[in-house]
Amino acid sequence: MRTGKCIAKEREPDHICQDDEEFCVNRFDEQQIFKLLLGLGKKLIVYEWFDPGDQDDDKVRGRGGYFTLKEWEKTLRYLADNYKVELIQPLRRSIDEGEIDNVISKLRQVDCICFYVEKIEK
Ligand SMILES: [Zn+2]
Repeated sequence: MRTGKCIAKEREPDHICQDDEEFCVNRFDEQQIFKLLLGLGKKLIVYEWFDPGDQDDDKVRGRGGYFTLKEWEKTLRYLADNYKVELIQPLRRSIDEGEIDNVISKLRQVDCICFYVEKIEK
């Protein structure tokens, strides 16, 4: 789900991109990705492991690694602003903009998130 250019330098100031991209982390553009995926259907279910810290210390894969809490926060704020978002794990509830801080502090205690996103009928 990641696209575009490497953002590893934002996480690790010493990062130098290499040809094999083994240690690179590409950007996650939530607007682009969710627009694309929700163009394929009405509802999208996301089930994802992540690193509950502010940065991914356990990055072992190229191009991605796990999502960080900062990325989830940004993504959830965008989604709550534009779509109907229903969290399933770690707790069951609808997410609106006022709810994000509570959800993020809950996510700090777990390493897996499940939610669905639905287009809002206008
Ligand atoms: Zn890089």
